[in-house]
Amino acid sequence: MTTTVVIGGNFAGMTAALEIKRKGKEAHKVILIDKSPLFLFIPSLIWVPFGRREIKDISFRKDGILQKKGVDFINAEALKVDPKTQVVYTDKGEFKYDHLVIATGPKVKYDVAPGVAEHAYYVGTPNGAMKIRKALEEFKKDPGPIVVGATQNAGCMGAAYEFLFNIEKWLRDQKIRKKVDLYWITPEDYLGHFGIDGMPLAESMLTGFMKMFNIHFRTQVGVKEMEKDKVILTNGEVLPSKFTMLMPPFIGVDFVTNSPELHANAAGYVPAGDDYRHPDYPNIWTAGIAVNVPLPFTPKTVPFAAPKTGYPSDETGKVVAENIIRVTKGETKLKEKPWGKIPGLCIMDAGKKEVIIVSDKLFKPRSFAIMIPNVIYDFNKILFEKYFLWKTKNGYSFLP
Ligand SMILES: Cc1cc2nc3c(=O)[nH]c(=O)nc-3n(C[C@H](O)[C@H](O)[C@H](O)COP(=O)(O)OP(=O)(O)OC[C@H]3O[C@@H](n4cnc5c(N)ncnc54)[C@H](O)[C@@H]3O)c2cc1C
Repeated sequence: MTTTVVIGGNFAGMTAALEIKRKGKEAHKVILIDKSPLFLFIPSLIWVPFGRREIKDISFRKDGILQKKGVDFINAEALKVDPKTQVVYTDKGEFKYDHLVIATGPKVKYDVAPGVAEHAYYVGTPNGAMKIRKALEEFKKDPGPIVVGATQNAGCMGAAYEFLFNIEKWLRDQKIRKKVDLYWITPEDYLGHFGIDGMPLAESMLTGFMKMFNIHFRTQVGVKEMEKDKVILTNGEVLPSKFTMLMPPFIGVDFVTNSPELHANAAGYVPAGDDYRHPDYPNIWTAGIAVNVPLPFTPKTVPFAAPKTGYPSDETGKVVAENIIRVTKGETKLKEKPWGKIPGLCIMDAGKKEVIIVSDKLFKPRSFAIMIPNVIYDFNKILFEKYFLWKTKNGYSFLP
């Protein structure tokens, strides 16, 4: 019997654990360790501040489905790994493995610039989204300027764009839009770059949205400093702000940085080949945001990172599972799927509107790439949410 320990069980880790068990059956023992007992559909967090979703609508306890599918679930925080003795240390004991999958996602670097941790809101956690809901209740009593954006080194610009268009819609619904100067700030070289060097029509479409919704924007800027009522940009400009939501950079989690033998890069991401195997330890694998993905281009002025979205996270979980099965069968030919060659599949919510983004590859060169705006309603985004929650609740990890 081969024992695989998977650390982190949301998009990438849940898929990897279920797929190893589905393919490996009785020959494989799979232990999934996650500090959270819940599966959380993170993309819908952008709707929580505006009351369109509650946290309970977009999360569920994952122990039930894992148990049903034969995966052992341990609700614990992994603290570090010793790759030589093949032991993972957690706050609830030690676990020995034959194979290890690291799918721990990101840690948010709130201290990217002075004052950001204290004065900016962040929508990417349940707590952060609920804090925004409360702050907006206060804001609407006495509206003022708003700044939304991504900081230097951020990679998840798409979610910040989604929040921008959703708050713009909310301001109109609250009938206070005319009282609010709305600013978008981004390190991207141009609007709609998204950390993937754009898509056909992306820049003109996003510029058109900014004009249509009367949003002021600044590209190629970072945040130098924040105070309670202002955001000071790296170009020296000072934007007054009564409410600020920023997407800071993602870095590797403490488990990774506390395990120096993993040789993570400066940002705390784990090195991996196109087969998602660690270059130094053939029984350590990485999937999802935890993977180090080098940028295939150089940002013009302000640094930013590549997005690591749900689809590639899920796909890399599948590749890792397939490769662990192959290795345990004694096969030497492994499946390879370089991150940048995974298809780009994403729906950007634009406040009860949406833009569907499809390409044959995430990074250029691509032979097919298209952005389809849908100004009628964001029903594809809703469909994506319902589908993904249904698929995960039922443990159908083999589905796309
Ligand atoms: C606001 C927002 C909106 C987004 N919208 C979209 C979208 O519309 N479409 C899209 O494709 N992508 C979107 N994304 C990106 C998407 O959420 C990620 O690609 C995806 O969650 C990455 O999956 P992952 O499994 O690598 O990491 P995560 O989903 O973050 O999972 C990591 C897991 O590891 C666990 N963990 C971490 N450290 C430890 C530890 N030491 N011990 C035990 N457990 C640990 C965590 O509890 C968590 O369950 C969005 C992201 C954000 C923040």
